[in-house]
Amino acid sequence: KMNTDLGQHILKNPKIAEAIVDKAEIKPSDVVLEVGPGTGNLTVRILEKARKTIAAEMDPRMAAELTKRVQGKPTERKLEVMLGDVIKADLPYHDICISNTPYQISSPLVFKLLNMPKPPRVSVLMFQREFALRLLAKPGDPLYCRLSANVQMWANVTHVMKVGRGNFRPPPNVESSVVKIEIKNPRPQLDYNEWDGLLRVCFVRKNRTIAAEFKSTSILNILEQNYKSFVSQNNGEHNKEGYPSDVSDDDYPNVIKHKINYVLTETEMAQMRSQKCDQLDFLRLLYAFHQVGIHFA
Ligand code: SAM
Repeated sequence: KMNTDLGQHILKNPKIAEAIVDKAEIKPSDVVLEVGPGTGNLTVRILEKARKTIAAEMDPRMAAELTKRVQGKPTERKLEVMLGDVIKADLPYHDICISNTPYQISSPLVFKLLNMPKPPRVSVLMFQREFALRLLAKPGDPLYCRLSANVQMWANVTHVMKVGRGNFRPPPNVESSVVKIEIKNPRPQLDYNEWDGLLRVCFVRKNRTIAAEFKSTSILNILEQNYKSFVSQNNGEHNKEGYPSDVSDDDYPNVIKHKINYVLTETEMAQMRSQKCDQLDFLRLLYAFHQVGIHFA
């Protein structure tokens, strides 16, 4: 019996399995990580092309089945099975990641790959259609969200193909899409947590104005704490930008409010909505906040 909690939908269409592996353009010197190999329909094809394949599988029965499938084959020695939850594991270095992803780990898997010290050159991943479309969405698209803006800073994402439910056993409830994620190299010179922190604020409600997002008390409190630790790291010296001289340095809530107004006015972003902002808009905003000593992480 299938354990549906693990998202075990086996890909039955060999043409699609082949297309996924082809799209990764594996070189004979490559190490490939496959997440959730299941019974090995993708794995056997990867093994033909890669120098080494690391298959990370959480379900011991699946891992056993995969091991049996390659036993005695010439490719056997190129396979390494990693048993356990891939999200909790320390991922070994790999050039390429391929996965018919169990959908409940879609987002953590993408961020785990993006944040590796040496991320894979290419990832070819099957996702639930809506998740794939969010990864691909551009400013102004209805599905454009924090995920889109965040991932597209670090990687180029392209759509590979749609895959209908009928290609899996058992069929999932939703349609799927394969996407290719190519991590930008060199990596943009930007602090991951600062970028993510700004996007978290701006995308609480993506259709509200940026000015409205920055009025939330919980956000003002966080920015105040961050500013305080910025000042103390700066040997108690204040960043004098963005507030009038009649506001006392120690009146932190007021200082923060003035600084935010100053930044939003200067960047002309107060009345914009995140739903329509592109990477450059957010970068400009982040830079302007840093100029006045406001940090998001
Ligand atoms: N790759 C196979 C295929 O295409 O036919 C199976 C794909 S199936 C959608 C997902 C697989 O991921 C299952 O074998 C499941 O046991 C495994 N899995 C689920 N969660 C996992 C996790 N957190 N870490 C590693 N493997 C996981």
